[in-house]
Amino acid sequence: MKTEFLMVKGDITKDHGVDAIVNAANTSLLGGGGVDGAIHRAAGKELLAECRMLNGCKTGRAKITKAYNIPCKYIIHTPGPVWNGGKSNEEALLGSCYKSCLELAVENGVRSIAFPSISTGIFSFPLDKAVKIAIGTAKKFVEDNPDKLDVIKWVLFDDNTFNAYQNELNGWNDSGEKSVAGNDVKSKKVICFHNPNEENGYLSNWYMSDFMIDGIKFSSLEQYMMYMKAVTFNDMESAEKILSISDVEEIKELGKGVKNYNDVIWNGVRQIIVYNGLLEKFRQNIDLREQLIATGDSILAECAVSDKVWGIGLSVYDDDRFDLTKWKGRGLLGFALMKVRDELAV
Ligand code: ADP
Repeated sequence: MKTEFLMVKGDITKDHGVDAIVNAANTSLLGGGGVDGAIHRAAGKELLAECRMLNGCKTGRAKITKAYNIPCKYIIHTPGPVWNGGKSNEEALLGSCYKSCLELAVENGVRSIAFPSISTGIFSFPLDKAVKIAIGTAKKFVEDNPDKLDVIKWVLFDDNTFNAYQNELNGWNDSGEKSVAGNDVKSKKVICFHNPNEENGYLSNWYMSDFMIDGIKFSSLEQYMMYMKAVTFNDMESAEKILSISDVEEIKELGKGVKNYNDVIWNGVRQIIVYNGLLEKFRQNIDLREQLIATGDSILAECAVSDKVWGIGLSVYDDDRFDLTKWKGRGLLGFALMKVRDELAV
C-alpha cells in the first residue's frame, strides 16, 4: 500500500486515528510550552514520569513513550533545532528530527503517524523552509522504505501553518500544476484534466464510473447529463436510447439530437444537473471521492481547447492554463467539481 500524506488543521492531542503522534519537545523531555505543553497536559502525569527515565534527548534525535490519556499508542518525542539564523546546522537537524521519528515509528510497528510543525513555534524556524524539509524528508523516507507506513499526517494548529504545508504537499502531488497568477487565488494551484485515460482523468465526464440516481444506473457522467438533457425537453425516445448504450461518444451525439431543445432553458439548468450528477458519481465511488478530496483547495480546470463552457478553452500544454485571467473558457465543469469537493469534504 502506498503511504498516504495528509494535512489537517487541528489539535494533535485529539483523536486522529493514528498509531503515534510526534511531540516537538525540548532536549530535557520534561515538557515545555506550545505543543509540548499541550501533549503533557492531555497525556497526564504518567507521561512526565516515563520521560524522567529517558535522560533527555539530543536535538534531531527521537525517543518513544506510551501515550497514556491521548488516544493513540505512542508519543515520539523529538527536540527540534532552535532557529539561529541558519548557520548552526538547523536545516539538517530538522530533517534529522523527521527521519529519526519515522525510523523509530517503523521499528515499533507504527503504521500511521501524526506530526506537528516541528520548530516553527517557539523555536522560530522559518515556516517556508520548515515545510520543505518536513515533507521532503518524509517523501524521501517513504521512497527508501516503501510499504512501511500507511499514513503520514501533519496536524497543524493555525491557518497559516496549515496552508503552508498543504501548498507544499500539493506541489509534490501534481506535476501538472503551478501557482495561479490571478489576484484572489494567488496561493492556489491549478490541476488540469482532459481525457479520461490521461492524468486526473477521473475528473472527466467521459470517465467510466457507475452510479445510481432515482433508481437508474448510469455508467458515466456524460450519460447522466445527456439523459437529463433529453428528459428536460421531454424527448423520452432519446432518453431511452442514451440509457441503452455506454459509449460516451455515441451518447454525446444522441445528446446533440435531442428534440424540442431550447438553448435558454438548457443554459439555465445544465450546471445544476451536472452538479447533482457529480455529487452522486463522487459520493458513490469512494476511491474517486478520496482522489477529489485530496486535491485540497486547488483550482480544477478542464483543459479542452474547443469547449468554452465546461472547459477553459486552453489545452493541457498551454502555459496560460495556470492563469485564470487568461482562460478562454468559463471552466464550469471545474467549478462544479470544486463545489462537489466542498460538499463531500465535510
Ligand atoms: P517548537 O518549540 O518546536 O517551535 P511549538 O510547540 O512552539 O514548538 O510550535 C510548533 C507548532 O505546533 C506551532 O505551529 C504551534 O502553533 C503548533 N501547536 C501548538 N499547540 C499545538 C497542538 N495542540 N496541536 C498541534 N500543533 C500545535
